[in-house]
Amino acid sequence: ITFPTDRTAVLTGAASERGIGRATADKLASLGWSIAIVDIDGDAAREAAAAITAARGIRAIGVAADVSDKDSVNAAISKIEAAMPPIVGLVNLAGISSPTEFMNETVEAWDRVFAINMRGSFLVSQRVLAGMIERQLGRIVSISSISAQRGGGTYSKVAYSASKAAIIGFTRALAREMGQHNITVNAVAPGPIDTDIMGGTLSDERKNAMSADILMGRVGTRDDVAALIAFLLSADAGYITAATYDINGGLQVS
Ligand code: NAD
Repeated sequence: ITFPTDRTAVLTGAASERGIGRATADKLASLGWSIAIVDIDGDAAREAAAAITAARGIRAIGVAADVSDKDSVNAAISKIEAAMPPIVGLVNLAGISSPTEFMNETVEAWDRVFAINMRGSFLVSQRVLAGMIERQLGRIVSISSISAQRGGGTYSKVAYSASKAAIIGFTRALAREMGQHNITVNAVAPGPIDTDIMGGTLSDERKNAMSADILMGRVGTRDDVAALIAFLLSADAGYITAATYDINGGLQVS
């Protein structure tokens, strides 16, 4: 399979400068993708897009949207479809974590985690898939977490772990419906990565302690995860679907 030379990857939650999404956008730009960043922080999304264009000489756009809100998602994707080459790739990264212990959990906070992490992936995927189905070509990657498998254990607790486990079922079931349209749907489940999502709790001391349990002897980087996502979005990955990839330096067996 070959991809059109001009093609866009949409990344939600890719505005944060130290985030996995931003690193993934850089990686995809280096591979010739045009980039569309959708983030609740519109200014940061536009700045990130401008920085990527300046560094890589490719087309990039930043759009403000709350992925948990259908109208907001529809408006953002319509804007991208009007301005950019056809959307071939989607990476659902927008997410929040929560360190709240279960007995202190509230309905509001629980619903917010699910609204962003899970409903957001549903809404953006559904909106982007309309064009992918029409063109009979697409790659979707959503971000689960090792928390789904191990039940947290780092920063996140029950709500986050449950929402990230939901991403795995979402991915498998959606892949079933989309195979006939030449669209692959996969998930990646990273171990702890030092980004802003952990509220600055991943100190060097903490990282060293964690590294003792990780087979590769270190905490993962944003670039480690970006490389995996970029492969799953590539033309070469057309026979991989309904899969969830561990990327955690071996932490899943330790
Ligand atoms: P991050 O906080 O740097 O990035 C999250 C991004 O999502 C931010 O840019 C934020 O503005 C955006 N966002 C938040 N709410 C939004 C909303 N309602 N609508 C649109 N955008 C919204 O964190 P990160 O670590 O880069 O996280 C990226 C993804 O990776 C998340 O889904 C996270 O759960 C997942 N993940 C992270 C780790 C880790 O250790 N950092 C591990 C496993 C999975």
